[in-house]
Amino acid sequence: MASQLTGSFQLMKSLNRSLVLNTIRIHESISRSEIAKKTKLTPPTVTNIVNELLKESLVVEKEPGVSSGGRKPILLTINSGSRCVIGIDVGVKKIRCALSDLNGRLIIKKLETIPTQLTKALFLTCLKNILTDFLQEIGAMREKVIGIGIAMHGIVDSEAGISLFAPSLMLENIPVKAELEAAFGLPVRIENDAKALAIGEKWFGNGKEVNDLITINIGEGIGAGVILNNRLYHGQDSLAGEIGHTIIDLDGPRCSCGNFGCFQTLASGQALRERALKEISLGQKTMLLEKAAGDLETIDGQMIYDCALAGDALSIQVLHQTARYIGVGIVNMIHFLNPSLVIIGGGVSKAKEFILEPIREVVERKALTQKAKQSDVIISALGEEGSLIGAVTLVLAELFATDYPD
Ligand SMILES: [Zn+2]
Repeated sequence: MASQLTGSFQLMKSLNRSLVLNTIRIHESISRSEIAKKTKLTPPTVTNIVNELLKESLVVEKEPGVSSGGRKPILLTINSGSRCVIGIDVGVKKIRCALSDLNGRLIIKKLETIPTQLTKALFLTCLKNILTDFLQEIGAMREKVIGIGIAMHGIVDSEAGISLFAPSLMLENIPVKAELEAAFGLPVRIENDAKALAIGEKWFGNGKEVNDLITINIGEGIGAGVILNNRLYHGQDSLAGEIGHTIIDLDGPRCSCGNFGCFQTLASGQALRERALKEISLGQKTMLLEKAAGDLETIDGQMIYDCALAGDALSIQVLHQTARYIGVGIVNMIHFLNPSLVIIGGGVSKAKEFILEPIREVVERKALTQKAKQSDVIISALGEEGSLIGAVTLVLAELFATDYPD
């Protein structure tokens, strides 16, 4: 009984501590008495917790704030450089790695290429090597690292810390968390990349003010992250958000999953490239031919975007066509979940000046109600680093112990 009581006391103490810490984070700078008001904790409890946080340098005192008469209150703020998090984004061909402070600011970044023909063991060795090198590069800052967050394409069981299926690497059941925790002695969290993007947007991007949002990550494939009532939604088997494989044309192109007409066969970066190649095979004139210098294999989303910027009609046309399909997928999601906000991220979102308007036009034309037609659809403000910042947030969310990730 005694140990149970001690246990619940410890839990309460740590919950209160997280509550105070998170209140300081959200308000950026706040006085002790304001914290007591916001958290409904007693002033002595707040003072004790703040003293502890000051001692651990997790928070610092700032210059006095504006007084409403009487003594000016001392403001507290998160000591963002006191701890660090390593974020990793495992894409289809590249691995991004970064060191972040407690404000999600990426201080050191690194980009690595994933070797081809990987086995599960080789992939884990590759990840460990990248981390070992990175830890060496960051030098003394290594001491400040409190955890490693990983965003990874495919299906991820975030609770067990396993990549269940990484289709582009053709790998299954990779025990990422267990292997890396054993190798580095740091807590490791892993999440699907589109879901990580959703958390990143909620904490550091355009999603701060809303309770329900969908992020749609459009690269080689397409995935979505769904936040409902401020919580990330995983579904029964971590499959929620796999919108790339929702079927929108029974007679459409064959997908990597074996089905025909999946959303991602019509709206992904790969679909964009294939659309351009098809037009070229029909004899359309385009700047892409010149850029590709005879090697059509080199045509990719970036090249199509560059040519569109230079005024190439075909590149603009295929971007518009792809955007209309993205719009259809978004209309489906709006009708299914009716979110406050839809945020588009991933490589294809870079072409925002060509895709955003056609997407919004489709939503305006096809959504059911007047309000739904005006749904807020925007491009991620976090750019290509959205999932990486989300990966960092997986660890931060535990330090600050908020509602998400689930
Ligand atoms: Zn599919």
